[in-house]
Amino acid sequence: LKAVFILFITCTLNMAACSQQEAADPVPLVTDYVLPVGLSTVAVQKTHYTTSAPLLFVHLHCNETTAAAVAQTISAKKGLPVVQVKNGNERLIPFRLAADAYRFDPNRMFSDNGIRNNLALYNKTSDAAFSAVKAFRDSVLALLDTGKILVALHNNTNEHFSIVSYQGGEMPVHINSQHDPDDFFLTNDEEIFNRLRDLNFNVVLEEASKVEDDGSLSLYCSRQNIRYVNVEAEHGHMQEQMQMVEALLQLLL
Ligand SMILES: [Zn+2]
Repeated sequence: LKAVFILFITCTLNMAACSQQEAADPVPLVTDYVLPVGLSTVAVQKTHYTTSAPLLFVHLHCNETTAAAVAQTISAKKGLPVVQVKNGNERLIPFRLAADAYRFDPNRMFSDNGIRNNLALYNKTSDAAFSAVKAFRDSVLALLDTGKILVALHNNTNEHFSIVSYQGGEMPVHINSQHDPDDFFLTNDEEIFNRLRDLNFNVVLEEASKVEDDGSLSLYCSRQNIRYVNVEAEHGHMQEQMQMVEALLQLLL
């Protein structure tokens, strides 16, 4: 009788877990795009859901694998859309044009100046290369739902780029000395900044007029009046980045 009772309990728990899982997991609609850049192509994946959500995750740097895992996990759990550049684990996107090889940073393509400077940084510049990157940029922008809050996820390397970079600058910044300075939010939205500051997260309010136009998505959003949040965490800080995104979702959903 005891064995039967234990079996019954186990089955009930399994069934509960099963039905909970079914109720909790929204069904993703995944579209794989192959976008041309010059003579090459780049895979970009968009996952969306039938339910509407006020935000869209964006993952641009394919080598930032912690951020990719956080985006995928939370997107699947909460049914939130995500656009990801699937560039074979590389930060820079390589492409060919005639006999020449080029590469560029996908987070430096969102302004014409940004594209020109980035091409000059990694290659020689050419009008054809500029046009190729610009066309790719426009294809990516077409996949972003700019009526929503764009939430970018990035990873940085320990102590190279952190909230401390903004300390003593012209833009409002809040630092929690108990948190790793590599784990921080950057937003162009004052209300989101205030609420994250009140929750005692590392956060900086980016004011486009005070930053040089580097072609980043954040500055593009500021110019276009799109609400933008970057959740930046050190490589490998999966738990920290997950908690940061969860906290942000509590404010936005
Ligand atoms: Zn990045």
